[in-house]
Amino acid sequence: QSKQQGKNTFRFYTEDMETDVSAKLRLEMDLYQACDKHEFFLNYQPIMHAQSGKIMGAECLLRWEHHQLGLISPSEFIPIAEETGLIHHIGEWVLRTACHQLKDWQERCFSNMHLSVNLSPVQLMDRALVNKIKQIIEETNIDPSSLQLEITESSIIQNQEQVVAFIAELQQLGVLIAIDDFGTGYSSLNVLKELPIDTLKIDRSFLDDILYDQTEDVVLKTMFDLAKKLRLSVVAEGIETQDQLAYIRNQYCQYVQGFLFSQPLTVTQFTEFILQNKE
Ligand code: C2E
Ligand code: MG
Ligand code: MG
Ligand code: MG
Repeated sequence: QSKQQGKNTFRFYTEDMETDVSAKLRLEMDLYQACDKHEFFLNYQPIMHAQSGKIMGAECLLRWEHHQLGLISPSEFIPIAEETGLIHHIGEWVLRTACHQLKDWQERCFSNMHLSVNLSPVQLMDRALVNKIKQIIEETNIDPSSLQLEITESSIIQNQEQVVAFIAELQQLGVLIAIDDFGTGYSSLNVLKELPIDTLKIDRSFLDDILYDQTEDVVLKTMFDLAKKLRLSVVAEGIETQDQLAYIRNQYCQYVQGFLFSQPLTVTQFTEFILQNKE
């Protein structure tokens, strides 16, 4: 009886693993073709001024509409793109498309719009990246200070020296730098002090239970204090409730982003959002 059960369990386990591996392999192969098939598009999530509630800009978020599987989450396909090196090609497409779109919005309806674009730690290993970004800025003719690049805190820790040098080069171009998912890594405060960064994006996990968890509150306060001392801008990510917003408005935090204001939007939806927010 137990032997049979063991057998069954084992068989179930292998089948599951096989499905898993082949599903990943399939995604990997499809990812190679996704660029040519135009299966990628960008969403834009509004970032608001915390006090006035006016729109400041957006974060651009990559989407993959798979021809058979439908929409696939970036947390599922970005790791595959990183492992295969496809992230270099995809990331360049994201930057170019986002900057063209930014220019369009600046010219048509929102002259001082800011746009934030995510960079993968793998992209930061590419020595040619700074030049590509320079090219894209020239080609789209955007003011570099209206473009912000988001680098996760963990990517700084992973490859400190190279990333520090890279960030310095980016700053020379005049683009802004944000540390994304701040608080989830363990970057030394000394490193942070040395980096020419402009913005901290506080990870949404810290805001989940601020209103009843005292411990979280202390961590959050420390992050706001640090930002204030270093004169950095702060974006609170993942604001979903009025209570969270009320809390944030009493902190050193200039910008907010989250479902309370808007989900990530398509180009058409975001244009509408700009026009409505202006009124
Ligand atoms: P991220 O850069 O931290 O982006 C914020 C994520 O939080 C987005 O998920 C957004 O949809 C989600 N979000 C925003 N407001 C709320 C809220 O109020 N509540 C909740 N629960 N979630 C909220 P998304 O679009 O699924 O992206 C996940 C991650 O994938 C991003 O995290 C980023 O690390 C990565 N990613 C997305 N686009 C790109 C890209 O173009 N390049 C690279 N390298 N990574 C990207
Ligand atoms: Mg981000
Ligand atoms: Mg984030
Ligand atoms: Mg994140």
